[in-house]
Amino acid sequence: MKKTLILFLLVSLHSLAKPPIKYLKNGVAINKCNVCYPIKSNIQDSLHILYLGCNNVMMKYKNEQVMFDPFFSYQALKRVGMGSIQFDKRAIHLGLERIEQAGFNLKKVKDIFISHGHYDHVFDLPYLINHNEFINPIKLHCNSSVQNELIKFKDRIRFITNQSPGCESIAYDENLWQNISEHIRVLPLRSSHAPHVLGVQFMKGESNTNTFEQYDTTNFKSNAMQWKGGKEYAFLVDIIENNKPVFRILMQGPSIKPCPDILPDAVLKEKEVDVAVMIIASNQYVKEYPGYQLARLKPKKVIITHWENFFKDYTREPTLVPSTQHDAFFKKASKAQSKEWNYKSESDMFIMPFPGTKISFK
Ligand SMILES: [Zn+2]
Ligand SMILES: [Zn+2]
Repeated sequence: MKKTLILFLLVSLHSLAKPPIKYLKNGVAINKCNVCYPIKSNIQDSLHILYLGCNNVMMKYKNEQVMFDPFFSYQALKRVGMGSIQFDKRAIHLGLERIEQAGFNLKKVKDIFISHGHYDHVFDLPYLINHNEFINPIKLHCNSSVQNELIKFKDRIRFITNQSPGCESIAYDENLWQNISEHIRVLPLRSSHAPHVLGVQFMKGESNTNTFEQYDTTNFKSNAMQWKGGKEYAFLVDIIENNKPVFRILMQGPSIKPCPDILPDAVLKEKEVDVAVMIIASNQYVKEYPGYQLARLKPKKVIITHWENFFKDYTREPTLVPSTQHDAFFKKASKAQSKEWNYKSESDMFIMPFPGTKISFK
């Protein structure tokens, strides 16, 4: 409870200083409508990436679909502070409408990947499962903390524990790739979490099954602080044609601490990263982020996620997430430029999409 109050006070204080979106440096592309970018690659069809807020992202290629971190129920800070969060049905249904409008379909999703167990990455899954939005059982690639949080759904979820090379000991092995459909494969990558506010990280450690067994699954009214992160993961997504990766996306996840092996050299040699999907929240607490990753990966485009205020009603126009220095991200990115990786302008390299925006690459 004490920690919850501290979080509430810290974020409230910080939010006083947050700039409105229009002050973002040089108008980095904030997309409100669907956009298409040509990228030089051997991709045969369009790859669509749908941003739904926080780190909630769907990808679609040739009608094969995959989802990351499903969450729509933005919670007012006072709910988080008072330890009582619950599904926001209006927000979830707006999210479902956006998915449909963008030509995606949750029933086509067989695999969901979860970066870590914090409520803003996984909280709406029980609602979506209760309402039969997914096929049964859905395959959930996640850590053991998330498995504990969703213990009551063990009959409807096939849990696959993320196994990955990088940062922790497991050697890279081709079998770590999860072949989820004919043209899509995903490699989990072990990573780490940045502090939330003023260098303090909340909700550390593993969630506990005793807590989650008590929840009523119809509303899942719960304490945000009980949704502990567990081990964090980033994901590498490959589009495959003729048994070869032709397009590669890094879903950076909350992994904003440099981790030299986050992408083993052997993997990077096989195919460069075309698009990096990177979280901006809390970037100012890790001086090497995103410079280290950008200099190493040299992506052709960067999609920025977790930029909007998820303590504010999801159905209203977003504003910036409090307690994040958005400008710091672009300053550090700019310093990471070199002969091999550079950009004409920030709006040419970075895309900061409004929730509901579909970004297509061809
Ligand atoms: Zn988190
Ligand atoms: Zn988060």
